Amino acid sequence: MRLILLGPPGAGKGTQAQRLVQNHGIVQLSTGDMLRAAVAAGTPVGQRAKAIMDRGDLVSDDVMIDIIADRIERPDSAKGFILDGFPRTIAQADALSDLLAKKELKLDTVIEIAVNDAMLRDRIAGRAKETGGARADDTLETLAKRLAVYHAQTAPVADYYRRKGMLKTVDGMGTMDQVSAAIENLLSAVTEA
Ligand code: AMP
Repeated sequence: MRLILLGPPGAGKGTQAQRLVQNHGIVQLSTGDMLRAAVAAGTPVGQRAKAIMDRGDLVSDDVMIDIIADRIERPDSAKGFILDGFPRTIAQADALSDLLAKKELKLDTVIEIAVNDAMLRDRIAGRAKETGGARADDTLETLAKRLAVYHAQTAPVADYYRRKGMLKTVDGMGTMDQVSAAIENLLSAVTEA
């Protein structure tokens, strides 16, 4: 199974992706986690990405597309994957379509986790407190920027998949268990079809 999880920062994509990993035995490809690992390791990509991430902007499409192209080639992606945090722009979505077409692979579905901005602010404030600010971009100021970037650049990606008839939306305002159940429901409909 190959799917994309879409949704604003704080929508619960990471948590839901981890649950899907456990339930379906496929890998989570989180571009945010990959970039944070590159920053921690001090690689050239990480060194360039750090300031961009800290201010809540997007890393360039070229860099992100290269990262995902490499990652999808790895053997553990063969059984399927959950894209978490990618694609975030129309250019990334187009590149992903080309990449998959070249490999003769199909996406099964795109799931959007819908959460309103007020709840996202509450969640990010909670996350910043819990982790003691472990993520440099988990502050209310950076969240405002990340939300603006999301609405301007990533919301159009949802429309892109909606036009292709691939987008399914779940209500992300409930508990994690409710959201997981809604996602599993959608997936059983997709795999039965
Ligand atoms: P995330 O953990 O998905 O919220 O990502 C954290 C940060 O990494 C984002 O705010 C961006 O700066 C950067 N990032 C992650 N994925 C992408 C992507 N697909 N395109 C551009 N920047 C990204």
